[in-house]
Amino acid sequence: MDLYYDFHMHSCLSPCGDNEMTPFNLVNTAKIFGFDIIALTDHNSCRNCRAAMEAGKAAGITVVPGMELCTSEEIHVVCLLPTIESAERFSDFVHANIPPVKNRVEIFGDQLVMDSTDNVIGTEEILLNTASYFSIDEVPDLVKEYGGVCFPAHIDRHSYSILSALGDFSDTLDVRAFELTMQADEDYYRNTYPATRDKILLRDSDAHYLENILLPEHTIDLPENTPQALIDYLKG
Ligand SMILES: [Zn+2]
Ligand SMILES: [Zn+2]
Repeated sequence: MDLYYDFHMHSCLSPCGDNEMTPFNLVNTAKIFGFDIIALTDHNSCRNCRAAMEAGKAAGITVVPGMELCTSEEIHVVCLLPTIESAERFSDFVHANIPPVKNRVEIFGDQLVMDSTDNVIGTEEILLNTASYFSIDEVPDLVKEYGGVCFPAHIDRHSYSILSALGDFSDTLDVRAFELTMQADEDYYRNTYPATRDKILLRDSDAHYLENILLPEHTIDLPENTPQALIDYLKG
């Protein structure tokens, strides 16, 4: 079935994520806009995924638990997990492998942890937008240990992308998909970087604010509308 998707979205847990971008608001806005499946991918944490998945269940939209992991080279990688349990275990492991720098609320925002009906249930004290201790080549195997899959985020961006950090895909990078921003020219990237030619292209919004959520445009053909079906597809 063809499903309207957005697999890269942030909530109020992310530094620079708007406090109005609660899991409830994010999920219900996506539902109203007509998405079938979305992923919540906060920086270096899955702590709002449980709320987003519960809100998704209530609204009738599939929410894939995920994270935008920042590697030691400052490359952003979208990681998707099959279940909330695997996502929370992965999140705890990543939390133990990022620098213990305290968040500065006045600069980076509150990093709010929410429940599924818009109540604040905590805050994340450690700053979430720092580089983790994992190198890019380690991430695919790491995510695989938790049953998940990953792909390099917004490779056309001039910062925090695999191309900005390395200049090309590393030969040893074991991924089957990559992400472009909505504006990027697919042909340019396919022609310039041969490593992208046999890979699945995803287009995501990277929304940090409710007003950044775009109307559905791109679809993915999955046998069923579940996180596991998506992960299986992205594993090739
Ligand atoms: Zn990013
Ligand atoms: Zn992002």
